Amino acid sequence: MTDTDAEILELFEARSPRGLARAISRAESGRGAALMHRLFARTGRAMTIGLTGPPGVGKSTLCAALVTVARKRGKTVGIVSVDPSSPFSHGAILGDRIRLNEHFTDPEVFIRSMASRGHLGGLAGATGDAVAFMDAFGKDVVIVETVGVGQSEIEIAELADTTLVALQPGSGDSVQLLKAGILEVADVFVVNKADHPMALQLQREIRGMMEMLDFRGRWTPELVATRARENVGIDALWAAIDAHDAYLRASGELVAKRNGAFAHRVRALVLGDIGRRVEARIDALLANGVAHDDPYRAADAIVAPLADVLPQRGDVPRTPVLARPTVKGF
Ligand code: GDP
Repeated sequence: MTDTDAEILELFEARSPRGLARAISRAESGRGAALMHRLFARTGRAMTIGLTGPPGVGKSTLCAALVTVARKRGKTVGIVSVDPSSPFSHGAILGDRIRLNEHFTDPEVFIRSMASRGHLGGLAGATGDAVAFMDAFGKDVVIVETVGVGQSEIEIAELADTTLVALQPGSGDSVQLLKAGILEVADVFVVNKADHPMALQLQREIRGMMEMLDFRGRWTPELVATRARENVGIDALWAAIDAHDAYLRASGELVAKRNGAFAHRVRALVLGDIGRRVEARIDALLANGVAHDDPYRAADAIVAPLADVLPQRGDVPRTPVLARPTVKGF
């Protein structure tokens, strides 16, 4: 643990938002491990909500409205606003991206904007760390807001307990849903801008698509219409989130889901690490003039040392080499 980490931890323990902010910055710069060692045991208490959808659908407005209701209920809130397309990460751009001005001065609402590119493990990496730190800090609700650009919806669903997919009437969004496999990851569909003339049609289309799927034995996604700008439908949206949360707890799926999120994060870190090592080996092979060698042989040369320590699934009895960590807090 470095002096900086110790300093951050002290601020964190003193419940200073600066401690939380600096912990997240450590994670963003790939140096969050030592803090995570100390803080992970405190995670698992927060309700984590993913909110995704195309640009302009009203995610920021929805987020602000959700926070207002959460605060009225006495809940503390953390928000991670992720821009998967931006290589930059600046708190400064937050004001443009997120319409949470009314909450900026609320000490119980912590807002953080971050880019997912260029971090260890992408969305799962730095974003997962930010969520964990907010959770460990004691936030009751953590919302991860991200622009829907394909894969990010799927990834957000891996990290969050409850995934909200916001859709825009009159935009052809329902067709996109099918294409991108988003239908399967949504726990709650939010048709925002319910004041739009095409809003009812979009709701019909979503219901139509849901009829094609079999939800027996699992959660059937709820569909909520909102007018986020006027705070209409937000109580219904919270009711849907609470219903999903209750379902996860009653069915035992919460444990499975969080174990899945844990596995996803571990996988992202391990594959990221191995990927970088493999690239270094390939660079070395090329530098040694073996570019025209048989690629199978070159690949074998890289993988062979790994095969001893990392046997393939099925090659070994399922006794883990390391004790399997349990995800704490539930
Ligand atoms: P984001 O890009 O998904 O975060 O979307 P924003 O929250 O920035 O909202 C995009 C625009 O839609 C803004 O001009 C909002 O005021 C507007 N907006 C948000 N909710 C509603 C709504 O319920 N009805 C209408 N008509 N406009 C809305």
